Amino acid sequence: MLNQIIIKTMPFIPKSIIYLFAKKYIAGPELKDAVAVTQELMKINGSSTIDVLGEFVTSKDRANLEKNMSIEVLNAVQANALDTYLSVKPTSLGLGLDFDFGLSNIREIISIAKSKGIFVRLDMENSPYTTATLDLYKKLRDEGFDNVGFVIQAYMKRSIDDVTALLPYKPSIRLCKGIYNESETIAYKGYEEIRTNFKKLLDLMLDNGLYVGIATHDEALIQYGLKKVSEKKLKHEEYEFQMLLGVRENRRDELLRQGHRVRIYVPFGHDWYGYSSRRLKENPQMVGHIVKSIFGLNKN
Ligand SMILES: Cc1cc2nc3c(=O)[nH]c(=O)nc-3n(C[C@H](O)[C@H](O)[C@H](O)COP(=O)(O)OP(=O)(O)OC[C@H]3O[C@@H](n4cnc5c(N)ncnc54)[C@H](O)[C@@H]3O)c2cc1C
Repeated sequence: MLNQIIIKTMPFIPKSIIYLFAKKYIAGPELKDAVAVTQELMKINGSSTIDVLGEFVTSKDRANLEKNMSIEVLNAVQANALDTYLSVKPTSLGLGLDFDFGLSNIREIISIAKSKGIFVRLDMENSPYTTATLDLYKKLRDEGFDNVGFVIQAYMKRSIDDVTALLPYKPSIRLCKGIYNESETIAYKGYEEIRTNFKKLLDLMLDNGLYVGIATHDEALIQYGLKKVSEKKLKHEEYEFQMLLGVRENRRDELLRQGHRVRIYVPFGHDWYGYSSRRLKENPQMVGHIVKSIFGLNKN
């Protein structure tokens, strides 16, 4: 209820105030901010994945600008020898406008990344783009690019089939719950059912020897991941945990101290307002987290 009220009043709150709440989750408006955050993470043996803020684009010109920004990130990663990779949202590169146009932009990024030894993750967006994003992945792998991976959302009922179909590629997968508002015909809605599917998916991936980015702050799932990797006697370099910038930092640091790989999702860019408000609308619970963090109530 409180969450809904805050969301409805957001347009009337000055951006400068919203920024005070949002900045914990965003590196800053400039690429140098994401570089600095990654350098700080590297001091504690952490790594990152850098994301240029911006999602669905409505023109090819805008998608080309987004592509150029991703290429700037790749140059900065190389110039600063950062322990990071690039995460891209396929619709921000034009996938929603025209598949071949999006593919050609993403291919250009992945090809430059490959020449620099950098990995690129295709973030997973809402369900109209799930098939297209997985098709992109297959196409790029069939063309010989091995520096690309994708994301699987545990709330999607199709995810087990998607992973099973893609097993022959031995893909690198980020496994997360999923953040978009999907209909119950295609997505699990209950907290426990999503957790159960997350566990099933993690089993399927690890049992098939895939490299998984276990992307969650949910303690029950972190514990499950720890149990699985220990049972399977996986080495630290055979899996990783992933978290969002600004969330459960104490837990992140604990995992790092225990020797696990932890990669932090580091978004930056001038579109921070759009990102923050979309995140809030998609997942109103985040409002609660933000309010708690303002009042210092968030237990990390
Ligand atoms: C690295 C990474 C990449 C992601 N990429 C994608 C993607 O490509 N596509 C996609 O759909 N989704 C993506 N997500 C988002 C993901 O799907 C979830 O919406 C998000 O991670 C919350 O789910 P959870 O597993 O942490 O569980 P939750 O049940 O939401 O959270 C568990 C606990 O974590 C803490 N917590 C969670 N969020 C916050 C917060 N914002 N502030 C403070 N505490 C918090 C709280 O204590 C909460 O009780 C990504 C998440 C991560 C970590």
